[in-house]
Amino acid sequence: MTPKIQKFLSETACASPCLVVDVDVIERNYDTLKTEMPLAEIFYAVKANPAAPILERLVGLGSSFDAASVPEILDCLKAGAMPSAISYGNTVKKAGDIKAAHNLGVTLYAFDSEGELEKLAENAPGSRVYCRILTENSGAEWPLSRKFGCELDMAVDLMVRARDLGMEPHGISFHVGSQQVNPDQWDIAIGRTAMVFSALRERGIELKTINLGGGYPARYREDIPEFSEFARAIMASMTKHFGNDLPNIMIEPGRSIAAEAGAILSEVVLVSRKRKDADRRWVYLDIGMFGGLAETMGESIKYAIKTPHDGGPTGRVAIAGPTCDGADILYEETPYEMPLALRSGDRVFIESAGAYTTTYSAVNFNGFEPLRELYI
Ligand SMILES: *Cc1c(COP(=O)(O)O)cnc(C)c1O
Repeated sequence: MTPKIQKFLSETACASPCLVVDVDVIERNYDTLKTEMPLAEIFYAVKANPAAPILERLVGLGSSFDAASVPEILDCLKAGAMPSAISYGNTVKKAGDIKAAHNLGVTLYAFDSEGELEKLAENAPGSRVYCRILTENSGAEWPLSRKFGCELDMAVDLMVRARDLGMEPHGISFHVGSQQVNPDQWDIAIGRTAMVFSALRERGIELKTINLGGGYPARYREDIPEFSEFARAIMASMTKHFGNDLPNIMIEPGRSIAAEAGAILSEVVLVSRKRKDADRRWVYLDIGMFGGLAETMGESIKYAIKTPHDGGPTGRVAIAGPTCDGADILYEETPYEMPLALRSGDRVFIESAGAYTTTYSAVNFNGFEPLRELYI
């Protein structure tokens, strides 16, 4: 948690639970990415946290944006982004939404299938398109699976088709999976992209851009390599596969820009045991799976949780949310420990919670309000 958030929380009576985001950290993270990967154009993945203060700060820094829906595009425009700085990166879009984006001036679109390409040709004629290829997500703690992307030979055929339909074949994209902690995971996908580039060159199409996607991790309970290590591995791989003829580079970071900028204030509702002499206690917080911590699904993202008793003796705990849903358990298998002194009413802090929390929060499940959010 940053000193600014700490000071704010100590001086302000915030109702719990509440996410507090230090927007200066957004700027610092953006600057780090820009410094470490100066050749890349940064498209902030809006879905990580679409709050206006974040988008506005990023517009001021010259960021571009990866939007997945028309409302996200409108959020970017409202924050001051130019339509030319927005990529409509969802490969699954309704025809009407493509038309709406086109009317708003968006000229860059993702696709991974023939059906989508035909929709684009009809509703956003002449636009720049990039094709997403399938790639391994191993090493990612929040994999994006086989839902997106197509095989390489199909990508080649689809790009030829794009040209024949009057579109501008722009580039190739992939996503190595979110919270990807292995810097070497980009290499295979970059190599595969280079193969598509040369296959298309043989067919008279010169692609301009490689989109390396997102996936760069944030620091949760466990430490991760610095972003400089990811940048070094990626740029080495780019040179290995493309030589001196580097294409334009896009990156779409979400988590690595927003997560560490925020902390959630939460209150302990209950500490209990299932048996009088049970070793493990159950800690129930006033936020859970449905209150914004959806990424604890399958115990994937492991948040660091600070308590007022840190430093004292600890014991094993299971951690759960406040609703009456049996699925509302954050950690049961993961070996979490919390202080033995922890009591109902204690305030705890869930760290690195600035990404993928507010928008995942249910509107009124079990009568609980959506996650409050403050930007300072
Ligand atoms: C979600 C998403 C991102 C952001 O991923 P992070 O792991 O948060 O960096 C980038 N690009 C696309 C296409 C996405 O769907």
